[in-house]
Amino acid sequence: MQDQFKRQIEYLRISVTDRCNLRCRYCMPEEGVNWISHDSILSFEEILRLINISTRFGFRRFRITGGEPLVRKGILSFLEQASQIPGVDDLMLTTNGILLAEHAFDLKRAGVQRVNVSLDTLDPKRFRHITRGGDVHQVLQGVFRSLEAGLDPVKLNVVVSRSQNLEELPKLTELARTYPLHVRFIELMPIGASDRDEFVPITEMQEILGIQDVLATEDVQGGGPAEYYRPPGFKGTIGFISALSRHFCHTCNRVRLTADGKLRPCLHSSFEVDLRQALRSAASDAEIGDLFAKGVWLKPAEHHMNDEEWQDQRLMSQIGG
Ligand code: SAM
Ligand code: SF4
Repeated sequence: MQDQFKRQIEYLRISVTDRCNLRCRYCMPEEGVNWISHDSILSFEEILRLINISTRFGFRRFRITGGEPLVRKGILSFLEQASQIPGVDDLMLTTNGILLAEHAFDLKRAGVQRVNVSLDTLDPKRFRHITRGGDVHQVLQGVFRSLEAGLDPVKLNVVVSRSQNLEELPKLTELARTYPLHVRFIELMPIGASDRDEFVPITEMQEILGIQDVLATEDVQGGGPAEYYRPPGFKGTIGFISALSRHFCHTCNRVRLTADGKLRPCLHSSFEVDLRQALRSAASDAEIGDLFAKGVWLKPAEHHMNDEEWQDQRLMSQIGG
């Protein structure tokens, strides 16, 4: 459906949990956060109902995220049911990859088409540091199992932090030369636990990689804000996602559903519509649909992340990055 600024909105990102088996420094504090209570988290039945309703408004692409979606019990059966809803053309998952090796084939069988895996570094010690305890080998196994399982495309999300992994960009890029992987370098966003001094703009990343303006962009299935390049001889591509230095709000095609059932039309605006209350008050599908459509219609024109005063109350893991 269209929003008030005539953008075509057809993509719903769904956070199924705010919990996680890692504590990435830019995302969550070490001690975790005030977890949303179990009662407040939408049940899978409630989420399936909302997916169903959203397809009536032309939504057809769904990304399941979190927190870490693979830590939620029953996730595979939920995904299987979601993939069978008429109108769900594209079902995707964003994961930190820790539990991916054991689930990659099940995900494919459940109807998930593609996965995005977060991987900021290949260095085991650095990975343990950034994620506060994660094992990079598990993630790499998960990535290769996903390729074997036929999940396609497999994209790697690399959040670039000045003091952590800037020097590793060329090495991470090599993954896309050797394998059909899409390595995406992402600007750190001033949200959650992130430190603004760690921010590196896309232009600087491209300079380091020496690919500024020399390669034509290429489309990789996704339709999101990334720009992709395929250097000669590469099996995969390199992508850049910049929320700060280059606004992509005018082409934004997505809204989000938080784990506690709030429709969030813009990641970076605290405006939310409470769908959980409607779901739990015996509202009809038509009534919930009206509320959903109203939220989409009111999607803000653009974000205000660059404003110094802008500070969201929620973390990325709660909204669903
Ligand atoms: N746990 C899963 C994962 O890590 O892929 C899914 C949820 S996580 C919140 C989704 C994505 O948000 C990850 O790729 C993560 O790196 C990214 N992210 C978290 N905090 C961020 C920040 N402050 N700036 C940019 N990206 C961030
Ligand atoms: Fe967990 Fe993902 Fe946040 Fe890391 S980025 S703490 S893996 S939710």
